[in-house]
Amino acid sequence: SVAAPPESQNFHWHGFTQMADFQNIVIDHAEGCWLTTTSGQRLFDGVASLWCNVHGHRHPKMDDAIRTQLDRVSHITTLGMSADITERLAERLAEVTPGDLKHVFFSSDGSSAVEAALKMALQYWHLKHSTTTPASEPSSTTSSTSTSKTRYLALSSAYHGDTTGAVSLGGIKYFHQLFAPIVFTPVRGPLPCSYRLPDGVRCDDACDFYAGKIESLLKQHHTELAAVVMEPLVQGAAGMITHPPGLLARVRELCDQCDVLLIVDEVATGFGRTGRMFACDHEGVTPDILCMGKGITGGYLPMAATIARPHVFEAFLGKSSERKQFYHGHTFGGNPLAAAAAMASLDLFRETNLTATIDAKSRFLRGCLAPLADHPHVGDVRGRGLMVGIELVADRESKTPFDSDQLIGRKVCERATELGVWIRPLGDVIVLMPPLVASDDELRFLAKTVTQAIEEVLA
Ligand code: PMP
Repeated sequence: SVAAPPESQNFHWHGFTQMADFQNIVIDHAEGCWLTTTSGQRLFDGVASLWCNVHGHRHPKMDDAIRTQLDRVSHITTLGMSADITERLAERLAEVTPGDLKHVFFSSDGSSAVEAALKMALQYWHLKHSTTTPASEPSSTTSSTSTSKTRYLALSSAYHGDTTGAVSLGGIKYFHQLFAPIVFTPVRGPLPCSYRLPDGVRCDDACDFYAGKIESLLKQHHTELAAVVMEPLVQGAAGMITHPPGLLARVRELCDQCDVLLIVDEVATGFGRTGRMFACDHEGVTPDILCMGKGITGGYLPMAATIARPHVFEAFLGKSSERKQFYHGHTFGGNPLAAAAAMASLDLFRETNLTATIDAKSRFLRGCLAPLADHPHVGDVRGRGLMVGIELVADRESKTPFDSDQLIGRKVCERATELGVWIRPLGDVIVLMPPLVASDDELRFLAKTVTQAIEEVLA
């Protein structure tokens, strides 16, 4: 039995939500891929609680690992000391991330992981440029802008989080425009969208086309660019924008040629979501710095991390008097409880060979969604692995979007909720990011419900 839902009095201020639209869905408990509200409704968690709960909810091994850690230590500072579990996790993350990514800087959420990467890249160039001047501590006399490499290249419609640096990279109008007075301006790259290609660009040429655009920006700006920052393969919050295959590998080559760092934001794509542990693995790419969050603890506790290759880390090594330390740190970075959850999650990945199951699950889900291909308002069904977007359009032929005031995406998601599936729209793109452990029956239910909601709203 569950308690009656409380009347909303707005004590809780919801992110990205018009309070008047709060649907008063309050979760009492969850298990597997299902959430149960305080009024007793069972909802399939179609977005894995914002792309985090890869193993679903209340997995016994996850719960046990956190309880066991609770009996040892819950929180310590990791500034200058550490916890055994945190040390072991750092080593494990180095094992599962691409190539020689090795040095893990812990933070609390995806935005902070990106923020750390930005500052890491900037200080890296500062340190490289000041090797001839040992006293490199930022001060009024030695400013951190003693290097000219202080800018970033970010893609159009990028989303990398909500802290100020991350917002600066962002290219989604509503998340960005209002805050223009307090953000910096990146060099703005293209939106490498495979669905809406510019006139005259054929599908087979899309990778060359977008790589060419990025190349000319890099050639023009490389002396001032600290890093290119991008999501790999799929730009999630932009609307599951799927890049042409091969683009990431091309950007890696270009960054090497132009002596610019590559920061890859795997906050959404990491931890099996695209069918590999990290999306970079699809193209054999090792970025200089990789950001991860969301799925890192299987959604059980907040944690994020920024992992760097040795050449980046080593620039920060030196005696205390040299003041090369990274001028950045978080109170809860590497929290032992979160680290225990992350270790348990990685153990589960290994024990169940979870990542290897994703391609088949993806094909199954896409098969269940196949009837939507005939729907006059379904423009595109896209994504990688269990990261799927369904774009609804006013006109399929011309790919014309709906008027945003019609709130089509939101209406579809609200109807899906009534039918027992919790999903969130990104504009008129319906996002499906179920737990990676969802069964075929559950994936079929997800697809059937979403299809019904689309058909009813757009009847
Ligand atoms: N980067 C990407 C690619 C994301 O999708 C998100 C969150 N949606 C973030 C960064 C920010 O993560 P957080 O919300 O945990 O700060």
